[in-house]
Formats: sequence, structure tokens, C-alpha cells
Amino acid sequence: MEIEAIRLRGFRNYRALDAAFVPGVNLILGDNAQGKTNLLEAITYLSTGRAFRTRKEQELILFGSDFADLEADVLSKNRDKTIRAVLFPGRKPRQLYLNGVKQKNFTTLEGELTTVLFCPEDLSILKAGAEKRRRFLDFALCQLRPGYSRALQEYQRLLDHKSRILKDWRERPEYLDILPDFNLRLAQFGAVLIAYRANYFEKLSRLTAEYHREFSGDREEITMAYHTVSTVENPLAPRSQVEQAILQHQEAHLRAELESGQCLTGPHRDDFEVCCNGLSLKSFGSQGQVRTAAISLKLSEREIFRDDTGEEPVLLLDDVLSELDDGRQDFLLNQLKSGQVFITCCEARKFTKLGSVTHIAGGQLQPG
Ligand code: ATP
Ligand code: MG
Repeated sequence: MEIEAIRLRGFRNYRALDAAFVPGVNLILGDNAQGKTNLLEAITYLSTGRAFRTRKEQELILFGSDFADLEADVLSKNRDKTIRAVLFPGRKPRQLYLNGVKQKNFTTLEGELTTVLFCPEDLSILKAGAEKRRRFLDFALCQLRPGYSRALQEYQRLLDHKSRILKDWRERPEYLDILPDFNLRLAQFGAVLIAYRANYFEKLSRLTAEYHREFSGDREEITMAYHTVSTVENPLAPRSQVEQAILQHQEAHLRAELESGQCLTGPHRDDFEVCCNGLSLKSFGSQGQVRTAAISLKLSEREIFRDDTGEEPVLLLDDVLSELDDGRQDFLLNQLKSGQVFITCCEARKFTKLGSVTHIAGGQLQPG
């Protein structure tokens, strides 16, 4: 997977950018607030169909411009492709194109350009609540497994229904008649999600521990544990067994669910724990440790994707080097030998040797 060139018109602080990139490391250099992260945001938008810093598409359009046009030439699966998105303010829907052909929605563009992004907000995967960790797992698995993505959507739909039942059953007691049916289907789809997550998590935790160990010069040992519905003793057990365990949990919590009006049982409450040298990173990790572990997670995500599909996602590293000591910086820079990498930096320092340098100031390429 490789981005050969990108053209931006009216995107964030880019009035007009035409940039070409090399297959290896692309260092994006510039002072604060010049457009480095904006460039990575444009790339992830073409990769995932959404911006990682905002849900409001309007914010992506250059102030005063009546559209934003993003286009990338991509080499993937040995073919040259062009991916393009045009965004408009207000309610007018965006337009998406693949090789100049208009697409109905982003589904047909999925997988055309895969990326793994590390940005400072990703530290919250380890520091914030369980939802961030679930989102990380869901996002990685949806890119990798269409079956997971479908099961997740169905699970979510069923969960919304059940939530309504639990909220309204006092006024509409007849709702209780259909609750067992929803519970059964939630257990079936829940077991599918747990199987995918547990399998993925096994690889993820092994690789993350390896990366982190090397990263820290053998000083730190990461251990990770996947937590799902408490009655599921072995999340890797055959699906029917997991399904039974979820049903059991539902039964035991039926009363509590009716009383609280909330869905208390199922993998929508899953979480995972990360410890460093036996101590929870969330509670005790230093800034450098948390950053090291978060980057290790992302490098592992990339490696799993490559092993699974034979294609290496483009690695996007935003402001990755701050808070890392020299040893950790060197390790990371040594990890960038394969595939295409974009790495943003304020100062060139020792990094210019890594690959091609693109200077950005005020949303424009600077010569030299
Ligand atoms: P840092 O090193 O501080 O992270 P950066 O180079 O990554 O800086 P960006 O986050 O890319 O900086 O943002 C650069 C600038 O883009 C900001 O000053 C911001 O005001 C501007 N900007 C963001 N959205 C828009 C927009 N829609 N129109 C015009 N300018 C915008
Ligand atoms: Mg930035």
C-alpha cells in the first residue's frame, strides 16, 4: 500500500496542495499550526471515510471556501488507483470517486487505502474509559474482517431495540413478551463478536508485548487481559458454549436490567486491561510508558493486518517522538524500515536521514 501523490483544494488550511511522496519514510516537517496534522487527516479521510479529529465535515472545509476536494493516487494490490472525495458545506452530501467513477457510498472504497494512525489522542486508549478500548478493537477488526463489521452492526441494532424495551416496559408491559427473543439473538451475535475479539486479542497482546519489550530495552514487560461477560470462562471456546454462558448471564441479571432500565449484560461492555511490569498502565503508567504501549499497539495492528492480507497499511505517525527518551526514539525509527510511513515533526534533528523531507508552512509546500 502506497500513496504516490496527494492533491488538496480547500481542505483545512490547504488552499491548494500538490505533493508527491516516496515509498519509504516521508518526514512532514513544519512549525506548530502549519498543517502537518491536517495532511494526515486528509489521508485518513480518504482511507476511512471520516476525519479523526471531528465529526463535523464542515470543519474540514477551508474557511470561506465552498467545497473541499481531496484526491490521492494510491498503489494498492499492484494497481494504481485514484481516490477522491469532495465535501460541501451545509446539507449537500459529499461526493466520492474511485478512478473517476462516482461511488454511492464509502463501502466500495473500503480497503482501497488502508492506514494505521497513531496520534496523541490515542493515548486515551490506555488512559480513558473502556469505550476507547472497544473502539480501538472494533476499528481494527472492521478493517480486517467484513464478517465482524456485519455482526457488530446487527448486534448494535438488537441492542438499541432491547434498550427501548428496558426503558419502556412499565408503560408497555407487552414488550416483555419479545424480550427473550432479543436476548437470544443478542447472545448469538454477542458470541460472534467475542470469538473475533478473543482471537484478535491473542495476537495483539503477544505482539504488543514483544514490541514494548524491545522498545524499552528489555526493561518493561507488558501483559494484557481481555475482559468480557463474566460467565464466559473461555472466550476462545466453541461459539455455542459462549452463547450459553451469555444466556446464563442475562438470566442472572434480568431483574437488575428491568429495574435499572439498562442493558447490563453482553460484549458491548467488554474491556481490556494493560499492565506494565505488573502495574495497571491506566493508573500507574508514566507518560513515556503509556506512549510506548500505545505505539506498540498500533505497530501490532499494522503487523497483524500485513500478515493477514499481504498488504502493509500506510503508517501515519503524528507527533510520535515527543516524551520518548533517545533509546525509545531510536527503536521506533528503526521500526520504520518496511512499508510507507508518514511522520510529522517540528524539528528535523536526527530524522532527516530517514527518508524524504516535506516542509510545510502555512498550508503550503516549502522548497528545500
Ligand atoms: P502542531 O505542530 O501544533 O501539531 P500542525 O502543523 O499539526 O501543528 P494542524 O493541526 O495541521 O497543525 O493545523 C494547522 C492550522 O490549520 C491551525 O492553525 C488551524 O487554525 C488551521 N485550520 C484548521 N481547520 C481549518 C479550516 N477549516 N480552514 C482554515 N484553517 C483551518
Ligand atoms: Mg499537529
